[in-house]
Amino acid sequence: MTAKINAARINAALGPVAGEVTELLGSLGVDPALWQDGGRAVRSPVTGEVVAHVAEASAADVGAAVERSVAAFHAWRTVPAPRRGELVRLLGEELRAHKAALGRLVTLEAGKIVSEGLGEVQEMIDICDFAVGLSRQLYGLTIASERPGHRMMETWHPVGPVGIITAFNFPVAVWSWNAALALVCGDSLLWKPSEKTPLTALAVQALFERAAAAFGDAPEGLSQVLVGGGEVGAALTDDARVPVISATGSTRMGRIVGERVAKRFGRSILELGGNNAAIVCPSADLDLSLRGIAFAAMGTAGQRCTSLRRLIVNEGVYDELVPRLAKAYGSVTIGDPRAAGTLIGPLIDKQAYEGMQAALDKARAAGATVHGGERVAVAGAEEAYYVRPALVEIESQVEVVKHETFAPILYVLRVGGLTEAIALQNGVPQGLSSSIFTNDMREAETFMSAEGSDCGIANVNIGPSGAEIGGAFGGEKETGGGREAGSDAWKAYMRRATNTINYSRTLPLAQGVSFDVEG
Ligand code: NAD
Repeated sequence: MTAKINAARINAALGPVAGEVTELLGSLGVDPALWQDGGRAVRSPVTGEVVAHVAEASAADVGAAVERSVAAFHAWRTVPAPRRGELVRLLGEELRAHKAALGRLVTLEAGKIVSEGLGEVQEMIDICDFAVGLSRQLYGLTIASERPGHRMMETWHPVGPVGIITAFNFPVAVWSWNAALALVCGDSLLWKPSEKTPLTALAVQALFERAAAAFGDAPEGLSQVLVGGGEVGAALTDDARVPVISATGSTRMGRIVGERVAKRFGRSILELGGNNAAIVCPSADLDLSLRGIAFAAMGTAGQRCTSLRRLIVNEGVYDELVPRLAKAYGSVTIGDPRAAGTLIGPLIDKQAYEGMQAALDKARAAGATVHGGERVAVAGAEEAYYVRPALVEIESQVEVVKHETFAPILYVLRVGGLTEAIALQNGVPQGLSSSIFTNDMREAETFMSAEGSDCGIANVNIGPSGAEIGGAFGGEKETGGGREAGSDAWKAYMRRATNTINYSRTLPLAQGVSFDVEG
């Protein structure tokens, strides 16, 4: 069954956005030569119109940028970490001063609603604050030595240029999770943003350059942007002078990048696709669950790596919860992401729309009942792709449910008990985020235990999306295993040395080995 579109809930009649993009790029200090004279057309998902043309990096440009980055690293690694933190503090100040403009540009280039565009910049500010504190806390351990008169310790050193490959859906925040940490760790940066969102990257680079000018003596080439598609990312991936590649995007991309980096014994931080589930138990607060589910599944038009894609509902509450959810799906406001009251903006492009329809067709063929999912016409945006989020009631976890479709589709499955629910939750190739709605302490603890969720993120009474920067972010299995942002994620941007110091006058060997020579 397809839910009827409630036309009153569609924020229609869009004006063109190109003029505003031009103004914003100007106010953010981006050199017009970078986005007016180039080859690749950049479209806004808000109207589908072309808003800029960006110049792309060639393989030779990548090589030259890496060379500059190595030179910048050699200078930057000798700057004391708290002083490096000062540059990140200044970057945070620039982001605070330009939050409104950058947030708006995120809305125009990625299609996020206003509060989410601003939220993305706030996340950048938060990670800068975190990294400034971290710049005085890059601790190593002191370890007991078995040998008398000896001391052991760990020291952490800058590792080299860090390549940062990012996805379209968090066009600026993901860079900052990596960049703020890598900078205080003493590394230089090479950013390959998504080809779908190069403008926000150029704007962030302009803000970084302002921060660097205020800082005074940051080395030239400390942070660089390489605009282009997968081939530019691949050139970066293959360059042995870049010891760490942090790649965020699809599992398809991660499989290629992970293998290529491993081949040259580089280190990769992979942040790939998710297929996140929430379990609703009989004791759950259904009002709270409904709100949590709605934001996690429909927010950002289902285009978050942590978006809720599978809802596993206990049979005792299914018939109460699911009709209420269907009602929310039928009445949510879709349309111009700039308009007050809009909750669902556009999909990024036609390909995303087609992927969504193909998944819904497969679900229908498997006997599912589909509520919503159709394209929504928005005047003035005929080349854009607005959709009503789809709620899909399905009997079993068939193949299409195990696949991440990057669009607002929520598959709903009915289960009998927690053991069955956890088995379903874990029964997919991805392992990013998960949650449980329950007021039963035993159920919540079981979900978070060794026999519970197998994901990198396991939440209780909140949805799987909307992480804070203080925790380590990332997931297991096909999500790639990488961790970014808070906790001890910084260690991935440094190299560790174990030091043993002998302050005695003898030379005892470890494990009782003797090796006496005369001389
Ligand atoms: P994508 O994989 O199409 O592209 C991501 C980036 O990889 C882009 O910059 C792209 O140019 C680059 N790339 C593509 N092929 C490459 C190659 N062979 N070598 C090097 N780089 C290459 O992803 P997308 O459509 O931009 O983003 C959506 C995907 O990202 C979803 O799967 C989503 O779950 C995932 N994502 C994951 C996280 C996370 O933290 N786990 C966060 C955001 C998005």
